[in-house]
Amino acid sequence: MKAWEENIRKVVPYVPGEQPQSSGIIKLNTNENPYPPAPGVVKALSNLDADLMRRYPDPLVSVLVNAIAEFYGLNSDQVFVGVGSDDVLAMAFLTCFNSEKPILFPDITYSFYDVWAKLFRIPYEVQPLDEDFCIRTEDYQKENGGIVFPNPNAPTGVLKSLGEIEDIIRSNPGVIVIVDEAYIDFGGESALSLLNKYDNLLIAQTFSKSRSMAGMRIGFLFGNPKLIRYINDCKYSFNSYTMNQAAIVSGVEALRDSAYFRQCTGKIIETREWAKTEFRRLGFQFTDSMANFLFVTHPDYSAEELFESLKEAGIYVRYFKHPERIRNYLRITIGTKEEMEALFAFLKQYVKE
Ligand code: PMP
Repeated sequence: MKAWEENIRKVVPYVPGEQPQSSGIIKLNTNENPYPPAPGVVKALSNLDADLMRRYPDPLVSVLVNAIAEFYGLNSDQVFVGVGSDDVLAMAFLTCFNSEKPILFPDITYSFYDVWAKLFRIPYEVQPLDEDFCIRTEDYQKENGGIVFPNPNAPTGVLKSLGEIEDIIRSNPGVIVIVDEAYIDFGGESALSLLNKYDNLLIAQTFSKSRSMAGMRIGFLFGNPKLIRYINDCKYSFNSYTMNQAAIVSGVEALRDSAYFRQCTGKIIETREWAKTEFRRLGFQFTDSMANFLFVTHPDYSAEELFESLKEAGIYVRYFKHPERIRNYLRITIGTKEEMEALFAFLKQYVKE
């Protein structure tokens, strides 16, 4: 090691799913929405004012913050926006998790949490999911420096009831509880209704999944005004202009079309429920996912080999080697009905052979 390397911050980065650039593949590996964003988004972008490009964007991102607040029936001072929920979650970790006590999150969960914890030197302790891949509420009722978990959880898709979520928030008044609701629009009940009751609650959501805008990078947080102010203080100490004008304009436009939003999420939920029956028919086992993906395993086949065979056939799904307990599982994003039919045509052959 070179002398200067001693003082380098060394991290093992998060590894996102592959983004193959070739066309003609079926991409079910990163939980993207298979449908395009609302038609108004594309129109607004093609009319984007050159003067908006010339100038710095509004550091307060007021138009988008106000549009989100209005859509969800909140005040603007309860909303924080950023470059995808990865950005807002990282900012929330930095702002909220500064205790000597460990933060708690599940052992099988979004694999960015431990990366941020290590990056920001936040002590953490993982809590094992039960044998059905469910979060055990009692594991989150011990001393801690903060709590974070997705609802529904990823990559399992398992949803916790609002009552159980409230138990965790209520029993931890001295720390911030972050509920990551990246997939909540596919059938879950948001903790939004608890926001005015608990000042230690922070909710993260995203435009990446249910609003088909992963490429635009828009995420947001709901929290009490004082907490949102603290998070903004950290953000402005880091980078004043994280969100570009195209993202801001398209985010506002997406929120205008709630009929389209309901139609797309409805189609994905319908395809997911149909896919569950198809997977069951082929002998797969899976959790009862309430997200836009299914987490499946087959008692007779290796998930890793199936993952490779699918890829060779141009069908990309997600395979996690770690932790050990999920080594024989695949996380498969719900695509269009046609994409899923192509997947099942392949799987029927595979299972027969
Ligand atoms: N939380 C969870 C649980 C996720 O699966 C993802 C998607 N990788 C994110 C947050 C981040 O999504 P984005 O940054 O696109 O909003």
